Amino acid sequence: MPPPEQVAVAMDWGGTWARASVIDRQGRLLWSSRRGNTSDPAREAIIQNATELLRQGIDWARDKSIAGIGVAVAGPVDAETGTLYDPPNLPTLNGVSLKALWEPELGYPVHVGNDATLAALGEFHFGAGRQARDRGNPSATLVYVTVSTGIGGGVVYRGKPFLGAHGLAAEVGHQVIDTGPLAPACQCGSSGCLEALASGTAIARIARDRLVQEGRDGFLVESSDPTSLTAETVFQAAAQGDGLAISILDDVASALSVGLVNLLHLYNPDLIVLGGGVTNGLVELDLVDQVRDRMLARAMSRRHRDVTLVTSTLGDAVGMVGAASLVWQEVQS
Ligand SMILES: [Zn+2]
Repeated sequence: MPPPEQVAVAMDWGGTWARASVIDRQGRLLWSSRRGNTSDPAREAIIQNATELLRQGIDWARDKSIAGIGVAVAGPVDAETGTLYDPPNLPTLNGVSLKALWEPELGYPVHVGNDATLAALGEFHFGAGRQARDRGNPSATLVYVTVSTGIGGGVVYRGKPFLGAHGLAAEVGHQVIDTGPLAPACQCGSSGCLEALASGTAIARIARDRLVQEGRDGFLVESSDPTSLTAETVFQAAAQGDGLAISILDDVASALSVGLVNLLHLYNPDLIVLGGGVTNGLVELDLVDQVRDRMLARAMSRRHRDVTLVTSTLGDAVGMVGAASLVWQEVQS
């Protein structure tokens, strides 16, 4: 009988959902499920809920050989101990080591990482990085940027995540772009950050402010109550030709291109991968080329411009695929 197929059980644990998958060595999702976090904010209840989801995955894979469990969470993570520090979406888990908790309870090696760092790793192994290798053009330095409710990112250098001294590197959303007196406040405590200018939250806030200030005619004014405006409304309005929405998204593309050229100069990537809901909106409006052109126009040398900018094809699964990559890396090392 052939040996059982090796799989990883992966989890992406966010503020609303815990999502889990069983993933094979090719990065394919064989089984997936998700659970809402409990409304009970007690640490034990939230952990218990996620543990049960992992047990479902383990149970599904009982005929296979489970190489380990990979977990992606937002916020700083100690890569050695798997301890979470001030996770913004799950504050009650501050100081908890998921590795110390789950290894004895579930009986498999547990690896934990920051979700954006793991998304970068997932793209390197199974997304844009794999496509680049298949084309005979492997990436030495990959930068992943997710533009969503917030803006995060990760860097993979020669196949390894670049973590920084405390696992906090590549906070790409909190690079300051606007230092002017009107720079918007950022939730990190600073102002003028890329996240305060180009995230989904920022797009909705900017649209609300500009509607109140400018009150122009157009789709945005007619179709929406300013208090309930979302980034999606702005994208829909821009698709209908609304001038204000187009102007807002033009500023977003501009801020994003400045953020990306900073990354180009700091990390000298050969591959930049954009993911997240706002990126999907930019793709639909054909604005990604504009972001790329503006980024390249500011690049300081021809060698810096030797970079490919693509959008993610892994979608929502990118964090889990990255968490599985962590398991495969440990198996190989
Ligand atoms: Zn910030």
